Amino acid sequence: MSNTYNPYDNVLKVVNDAAAILGYTQSDIEAIKYPERELKVSVPVVMDNGETRVFEGYRIQHSTSRGPAKGGIRFHPDVNLDEVKALAAWMTFKCAVVNIPYGGGKGGVVCNPNELSERELRAITRRFTAAIAPLIGPDQDIPAPDVGSNAAVMGWIMDTYSMLKGHCVHGVVTGKPIELGGALGRNEATGRGVMFTTKNIMKKLGMEVEGTDVAVQGMGNVGSITAKLLHEEGMKVVAVSDVSGGIYKKEGLNIPEILKYLGEDRKNLLKDYKEEGMVHISNEELLELDVTVLIPAALENQINGQNADKIKAKVVVEAANGPIAAEADPILESKNIVVVPDILANAGGVVVSYFEWVQNIQSVSWTEEEVNAKLKNIMDPSFEAVWNIAQEKKTTLRTGAYLIAVERVVKAKKARAIWP
Ligand code: GLU
Repeated sequence: MSNTYNPYDNVLKVVNDAAAILGYTQSDIEAIKYPERELKVSVPVVMDNGETRVFEGYRIQHSTSRGPAKGGIRFHPDVNLDEVKALAAWMTFKCAVVNIPYGGGKGGVVCNPNELSERELRAITRRFTAAIAPLIGPDQDIPAPDVGSNAAVMGWIMDTYSMLKGHCVHGVVTGKPIELGGALGRNEATGRGVMFTTKNIMKKLGMEVEGTDVAVQGMGNVGSITAKLLHEEGMKVVAVSDVSGGIYKKEGLNIPEILKYLGEDRKNLLKDYKEEGMVHISNEELLELDVTVLIPAALENQINGQNADKIKAKVVVEAANGPIAAEADPILESKNIVVVPDILANAGGVVVSYFEWVQNIQSVSWTEEEVNAKLKNIMDPSFEAVWNIAQEKKTTLRTGAYLIAVERVVKAKKARAIWP
């Protein structure tokens, strides 16, 4: 990451650009430039070796104008305040672009889950949940999985919050284990939404899905499921990567075999994977491959001022949050590379989180087929709306998505008026 990179500046830039096109004054958008609440907490934990360590954690609510704050909890060594602020704001605009009744929030703990035992991770989760408990709740702020956290962590959050309240509160968190009211299809939802979006953009651009090459950066929950579903749709997945680096095979990789090798816990690394005809490449090389579709599904700031000029893909679908820095957008645009923005492309996760919350608060359960069909019914029209406004206003798809999202948030704010 470059030293000057501040993801929150990226958010402000796109919001300002959209507001200018919408004809809003600075006063109209002033309040959405600042997160409503920022909570920083210390999370003391007795480690397995008996020593006490204190981890730093955050929960930030960017906006509750359209509904309760909503967004994941990230466990990663690089978590910091500006990152969580940006991630929280992206959630506000993501929920707005797909029109689900939420604002945006995000949380994070500075830690490396790969170096923690299960007991240590559970202790961090419980103590962190207790520390942010005054802010969260099914009507206030609803956490979910993000990088480094998963369904098991959500189960511990639900349990901790329920213990503190003295009764079961299913709707306080989404992405839970199915046994605790987790939605069927939630685990695959972000990747499924990325798959729908990729097919939608390819159709608009007159590209064949069958046999077209795609590279996926990141083999976490989002990247691995995206690769799996695109492979099942007939695309040729020529490259994938994880923290240890990437692999490339011109004829297309054996994705089912790779997923089996990586395993559920993804403890195996791609650097040790072998398949006939494949070569090892770096994460940087993966991004610069001459492929039709590129899907960054890892972290922020992967494509920036340093490498944007070297990107050769025709379409980039942002499965991660903020993988393209603001400075790279005009460079990609000048190269006629079409970018489908994160707030649209990866919204499938929060859409199915919304379905989970709706089921929880009504004590009902939907089948996986129902969930997947309802997801498609939100993702496809949302894509269409972004595509149409971008065509109409002659903007990028990112600006198009923000035109819709910023307008919805500003209208909600205006309808409520500033209190008191
Ligand atoms: N962490 C996911 C995201 O960035 C999901 C958030 C949620 O389901 O609330 O969209």
